[in-house]
Amino acid sequence: MTVVTRFPPSPTGFMHIGTARTGLFNWLYARRHGGKMLFRIEDTDRARHSEEAVTAIVNGLNWLGIDWDGDIVSQFAMADRHAEIALELLKSGKAYYCYCSPEELEQMREDAKKEGRITFYDRRWRDNPPSAPPEGVKPVIRIKAPMSGERVVYDKVQGEVRVASEQLDDFIILRADGTPTYMLAVVVDDHDMGVTHVIRGDDHLNNTFRQNIIYEAMGWDIPTYAHLPLILGPDGVKLSKRHGATSVEEYRDMGYLPEAMRNYLLRLGWSHGDDEIIETDQALQWFDLEGIGQSASRFDFDKLNYVNAHYMKLADNSRLVDLVSDIYQLRNINITPLHRERLLVRMDELKSRSKTLVQLADDAEFLVKSIPYDFDEKALAQLNEDGKFIVRVIRDNLSGLDDFTAEELETLCKSTADYHRDGKLGKVMMPLRAALTGSASSPSLVHAMEALGKEDVLLRLDFALSHNT
Ligand code: GLU
Repeated sequence: MTVVTRFPPSPTGFMHIGTARTGLFNWLYARRHGGKMLFRIEDTDRARHSEEAVTAIVNGLNWLGIDWDGDIVSQFAMADRHAEIALELLKSGKAYYCYCSPEELEQMREDAKKEGRITFYDRRWRDNPPSAPPEGVKPVIRIKAPMSGERVVYDKVQGEVRVASEQLDDFIILRADGTPTYMLAVVVDDHDMGVTHVIRGDDHLNNTFRQNIIYEAMGWDIPTYAHLPLILGPDGVKLSKRHGATSVEEYRDMGYLPEAMRNYLLRLGWSHGDDEIIETDQALQWFDLEGIGQSASRFDFDKLNYVNAHYMKLADNSRLVDLVSDIYQLRNINITPLHRERLLVRMDELKSRSKTLVQLADDAEFLVKSIPYDFDEKALAQLNEDGKFIVRVIRDNLSGLDDFTAEELETLCKSTADYHRDGKLGKVMMPLRAALTGSASSPSLVHAMEALGKEDVLLRLDFALSHNT
C-alpha cells in the first residue's frame, strides 16, 4: 500500500505553529514510506476566504522546506461531489431529510439542556416522519448515526478511544442551501484523494467518531489515524498570542533557520530516545507514529534557541551572509559587495556567538553601517575625555602600521595600554570599541578592524573624535 497523507489547513491568514508541526509530521511520514503528501485547502468558509490567506500557508511550507505532491486541491471546488455523496446516502437509506424549523431545534436544545443530555436532536424525521414534508421548507440532510452500542476509534497515538453511540447525534451532512458540512467534505475528499493516513491535531478526535459513521455508511476504508496532542505554552496553558509568536512567519522574522524549526517542531511531540538534534535526513529515516507522545508538549524558547544556535554554526557562511543581508535591507541598510566581503570574512566568529539571525545581524551591524552613526549610552560613557585621549593615541599610531592585520593591531593596543594605562588592555579596547562601533559590545575588535580596513577605521575614529560626546 502506498502511504498517502494529507495537509488540509483552513486558510486563516497565517500559518500557526501547530499547523506547521502537523504538516511536518505528515510530510515526514509520507516521505519516509516513499508515499505522497497531498495538500488541500479547506476553503469552504467563503466569508473568511482570501487568496492571501492561502499564500501565507504556501509561503510557510516553502520556507520550512516542506513540499507536497500534485496540485493544491480546493475543498470548495469539490462541493458538487460532496452533495452527490449526501444524495447517495439518502438513496441508500443511510441518511434522511430533516425539515425541522429553527424554533423546533431551539426547543429540543432547551429540553436536552434541562435533562442534561449531550445530544439534542430527537431524530423526529428519521424513521417515522411526523407529517408530510412542510411546504416551502428546504430540508437539511442528516446521517443516520448508530443509536446503541459503542463507537471505537483506533488511533496510533491515543490507542483505542471509545464513546457511547448515544453521545453522537444524527448530524447534518448537507445544509438546506445544498452546501456540505465540514464533516462530510473531509471524508469525501480524503476518500477521493486516496488518503491512507490522517495525522492531525487531537482537537479533531471528536470529529473522527462522526466521520467514521460516514465512511461506514459508504462502505469506504477507514484511514489510519494519529491524533497529535496539543502544543502548550511554557506555562502549560494552550499556546496562544499571550506566550509570544504563534505563527511560522513570526519565527522566520525572529531569525530562526528553517532547518532548526523543523528539528524543533519534530521534537515537539515526537521523540527518538534522548536525541535533541535530529537533522531532517535522519528524521526521514526515523520518523514513525509510535514515537509520538500522548501528552501535550510545552513550547520551550530556550530549547528552540539552543537548537537554532546549533544549526547556525553548521550553516554555510555565504548563505548566512544572504540571510543577514535581507535583514539589513529591512533596516534600510544598503549592502554593498564590500559589506558582504566583511561579513563573510568574520562569519565563523559571528555565527558562533549568535542564537538567531537577528542577533547575528545586530552583532555585525557595525561592519555594514556608515558614518554618521549613533553612539548608545554606554558608548558615550566610554568616549569621555580619557577615552578620547586613548582613541586619539591609537588613531595617530595607526598610520605607522605596516600591515593592517589583527596581530599588528593587537600589538599596538597592548603597547598603548602598557604605556598609558598600566597595562590594562580593557581601558584601551573599551573606548576604541565605542568609537568604532557606537556600542559597548562587539565581536573580537582587532579582527573586526582588520575586516573594516585601515581607511574605514581612520574615518570612524575621526568621526568619533569629532563627535560631541
Ligand atoms: N482544516 C482543519 C484544520 O485546519 C483540518 C482538518 C483535518 O485535518 O481533518 O484544523
